[in-house]
Amino acid sequence: MNRKGILVVVSGFSGSGKGTLMKALMEKYQQYALSISATTRQPRAGEVDGREYFFVSREAFQKMIEENALIEYAQYVENYYGTPREYVEKQLAAGRDVILEIEIQGALRIREQYPDALLLFVTPPSAEELKRRLIGRGTESEEVIEARLRRAVEEAEGVEAYDYIVVNDQLEACTERLHQLIEAQHSRIGLQKDFLDQIRQELKQFS
Ligand code: 5GP
Repeated sequence: MNRKGILVVVSGFSGSGKGTLMKALMEKYQQYALSISATTRQPRAGEVDGREYFFVSREAFQKMIEENALIEYAQYVENYYGTPREYVEKQLAAGRDVILEIEIQGALRIREQYPDALLLFVTPPSAEELKRRLIGRGTESEEVIEARLRRAVEEAEGVEAYDYIVVNDQLEACTERLHQLIEAQHSRIGLQKDFLDQIRQELKQFS
């Protein structure tokens, strides 16, 4: 079968645990390439430039937009976030699946440009659990937590744009589920046109 690289968008409410989930997925399955976004947000304690994000100034971000160096970007609670084009294109060309951990506006932009992309939405089991995780993380002020929860209300309205919703209640099971959904996407008929053509061609000898 064809094994072209696909884009996999993983979105989820802030506090859905998708960061931890991505880490687990990358550790378990080395074939995936995780895109590192550029952001104008300040690094949190423990975050390293070039690992979690490329932390850039607003001017540098603006320049990236002008130079068409981002495949998508969005504003999220006062900061800008965007996906650098070069890494994604190189990895896809090398046949690797590229994971984008981005929010919903970006996900919609990706769908327009890459119709074969897989859009996954990760959610905690309940709204209560979401709030508990956001507060428990202890990295944001009360104000920012409130803004992120309000944003979750908006995002919940747009979930239908995604292909699958994945409940993140148990890390190991959820990691496996993501992997299986990505595998399933590779088997979609639409992505196997060349392979189908080849089989059809070969079958002709029997007619
Ligand atoms: P955080 O500040 O918690 O790291 O990220 C805030 C939100 O921005 C999350 O929903 C995250 O998925 C999203 N995000 C991170 N990088 C990008 C990006 O490159 N593009 C878009 N559209 N959203 C992003």
